[in-house]
Amino acid sequence: MDGSKFDQEPVNEEELLAQGYRKYHGEGIDIYYNKDICAHIGNCVRGNPEIFEVGRRPWIIPDNGSVKNASYVVDTCPSGALKYIVKAEV
Ligand code: SF4
Repeated sequence: MDGSKFDQEPVNEEELLAQGYRKYHGEGIDIYYNKDICAHIGNCVRGNPEIFEVGRRPWIIPDNGSVKNASYVVDTCPSGALKYIVKAEV
């Protein structure tokens, strides 16, 4: 699932927050997570356990990986619980 889109349209922060997503700030990419949608499949933590670590606070640290890797892993989320907005390639 393309984590940069909602129904084929690029996501925007206002819409994500209105829909209950929580923002995890990063230098080059912000990741957004909606726990009500999460299917607990675990693709995110398997994809990059440095960025996604259940039990840690915050459990998502976007800067623990490259922008490319973070967006790639978010795209493997099957439920749409994870979204992202790329701000700069760092
Ligand atoms: S990949 Fe998506 S659905 Fe699976 S645990 Fe992570 S956030 Fe939840």
